[in-house]
Amino acid sequence: MKESLETAAPVSGTTSPWRGDFPVFAVTENGKPLVYLDSAASAQKPHQVLDAVRHFEAFEYANIHRGVYKLSETATARYGGARAAVRRFLNASDDREIVFVRGTTEAVNLVARSFARPRLAPGDEILITHLEHHSNIVPWQLLCAETGAELKVAPIDDRGVVDLEAFAGLLGPRTKFAAFAHVSNALGTVNPVREMTRLAHAQGVPVLVDGAQAVAHMPVDVQEIGCDFYAFSGHKLYGPSGIGALYGKLEHFEAMPPYQGGGDMIRSVSFSGTTFAPAPQKFEAGTPNIGGAVGLGAAIEYVEAIGWEAIESHQRALQEHGEQVLASITGLRLIGTAPERVSLFSYVLEGVHPHDIGTFLAADNIAVRSGHHCAQPVMERFGVPATTRASLGIYNTRGDLDALAAGLQRVKEFFAA
Ligand SMILES: *Cc1c(COP(=O)(O)O)cnc(C)c1O
Repeated sequence: MKESLETAAPVSGTTSPWRGDFPVFAVTENGKPLVYLDSAASAQKPHQVLDAVRHFEAFEYANIHRGVYKLSETATARYGGARAAVRRFLNASDDREIVFVRGTTEAVNLVARSFARPRLAPGDEILITHLEHHSNIVPWQLLCAETGAELKVAPIDDRGVVDLEAFAGLLGPRTKFAAFAHVSNALGTVNPVREMTRLAHAQGVPVLVDGAQAVAHMPVDVQEIGCDFYAFSGHKLYGPSGIGALYGKLEHFEAMPPYQGGGDMIRSVSFSGTTFAPAPQKFEAGTPNIGGAVGLGAAIEYVEAIGWEAIESHQRALQEHGEQVLASITGLRLIGTAPERVSLFSYVLEGVHPHDIGTFLAADNIAVRSGHHCAQPVMERFGVPATTRASLGIYNTRGDLDALAAGLQRVKEFFAA
């Protein structure tokens, strides 16, 4: 890619007060400003996060926990500060309920291995929904293959809404665990996770909520949801990749065996037996992604400083505008029309393959994603091999959506010719 450091031309329509925080938008491609509509895959990072990581790595870095010298103490304090930020962000009641992981995927695998596996016998059941990301499907399939448990899937309707009655009906004496997304990455559907958790708990079933797609769109309160576990990734929250967090109720973390063995997670090691450190260290074997945690803490502070009211009203305005401009394109079918949705549009265009749409738009420096979005069962449910997805963040503007619509019109004309 040829990069130019000219400032991008101002986009038409409403601006985003935060766009200027993101250096990437100052870079144009062949004179064309970046229209970034792929935040559901990964969000861009503001200079506040980039600067915090750079400052930490340059001036405050050392390995954590064991050092008695100043730098190690500072690094340990920064890492602990990031954990406190995650606790506050999720409204957990104790820092020990927050484990740093690589991301949502590792968090789900940790819960599957360490919490669910010891509870499963042949004939037991794990309940998920039809709109899950592969990372909230495959770990459970692996577990089922290993234990003889069975994976049950709650259906979704034609709008992409989980059938709550069916979900409740699938919870029974054999159900040992339930896992579901807070927000669908392929459809934008917001699940009623508080109600789903209540239904599961009424049957004594513990719950994991996959919050990867929710954390950038709405405030999360794990105590209000009541879930046993909540997972998210830093890179979808304007933070670094390779870092995420798993919330778990302290009573669970205390009772669970370690997920991986190694340094930093032990109390004492001998060949006659090893004892483990308490949570959360028990689940953080080896040197963690220290700079990533600092960056995640900075991303949380960045979002908190903006405030949810401003973020939600900006996203709502974009969602309404997006619905309008996409509705004006004949032959475009939205996949996912749940009444409770976030600013994310999955669609197919009559007569044009989604991959061709993506490639065509890319020539105009419009970044969308075409494919199954790591949710092949969703594609199958709607009878399409793939969709094109435009997903929005706080830096997007109405102008971005207008550019998308204009691009789609050109795609249509090109393929009709
Ligand atoms: C992105 C995503 C994941 C996986 O997150 P990673 O950061 O790749 O581990 C899981 N669930 C949903 C809903 C997602 O959007």
